Amino acid sequence: RLVPAGTVAGLALALAILLLARRQMSIANALRHALRKDEFFLLYQPIVELATGKWVGAEALLRWRRATGELIGPDLFIPIAEQTGTITKLTGRVIRLVQRDAGRFLVDFPGFHIALNLSASDLRSTAIVDLLDRLLAQTGARPANLIVELTERALLDIGSARKVISALRKRGIEVAVDDFGTGYSSLSYLESLELDYLKIDRSFIEAIGTRAPTSQVVSHIIRMADAMGLRMIAEGVETQAQADFLIANGVQYAQGWLFAKPISFDELSRALDGTLPERADRLAAGQ
Ligand code: C2E
Ligand code: MG
Ligand code: MG
Ligand code: MG
Repeated sequence: RLVPAGTVAGLALALAILLLARRQMSIANALRHALRKDEFFLLYQPIVELATGKWVGAEALLRWRRATGELIGPDLFIPIAEQTGTITKLTGRVIRLVQRDAGRFLVDFPGFHIALNLSASDLRSTAIVDLLDRLLAQTGARPANLIVELTERALLDIGSARKVISALRKRGIEVAVDDFGTGYSSLSYLESLELDYLKIDRSFIEAIGTRAPTSQVVSHIIRMADAMGLRMIAEGVETQAQADFLIANGVQYAQGWLFAKPISFDELSRALDGTLPERADRLAAGQ
């Protein structure tokens, strides 16, 4: 042997890291171009009230369509945007897209909610609150129309998270913990923040009815969230058995392919047109 096996493995690893770093750099560059060229759009996944099946809101999910036609999902580009500092610009774009898509709609349907995802760096300053204020001022939508989703990871920097959360909630914007159960936050830590919703991560919902110990964890999460006065949104509900379990355990809201996949705002508003009670009232009143 010319070189020891350990060295070969080390070189292979270094090469892999180098290639990955180059790929990340090229995606980071492409992201900056994409912002200029307006290659981003939002899909909206309905949030369903489990007891009635009614669509009470929708989560805005970012998509990137490259000039080549290739569609890139957020799991690939959001982490890179976070590492390279492009994320605050992307979040700004998301807020403007929500304003353009849903601004008028939210005025017509005051009972409907749009949920949007923020990253840890968005919480480092209160500029994010100004952006949301502007969205509300320019559309006439109400703060109660908006839900802001923060992952447990974003909440780890407690100082800045607390400041932004209290500014949002003072205005009446609601706050959800996203992907709950995948991070490190204990429920007692969450209790020290003012929150409105807990979104139970899909990995727990998947286990319902299949992996017994994990289903018991789900029941625990539900009981504790209840005790803390948090409403719950179950993520990634794909089967009727999962929905039945959630209803039986008192979970109020859900998202998932069982109800609807992420759809364009056009499709969302067409599906809702005339079916929401607020709108029906307005029509009956001849408005
Ligand atoms: P998330 O916020 O937890 O969003 C839920 C993800 O689960 C979405 O993936 C959605 O399409 C997917 N999903 C929903 N129902 C089902 C189901 O029944 N089965 C399965 N298998 N999947 C389901 P998506 O759109 O690819 O987003 C992935 C993640 O990217 C999001 O997770 C969120 O953390 C992040 N993300 C998306 N848009 C934004 C954004 O505008 N800003 C930030 N900071 N993050 C975003
Ligand atoms: Mg989310
Ligand atoms: Mg989530
Ligand atoms: Mg999730």
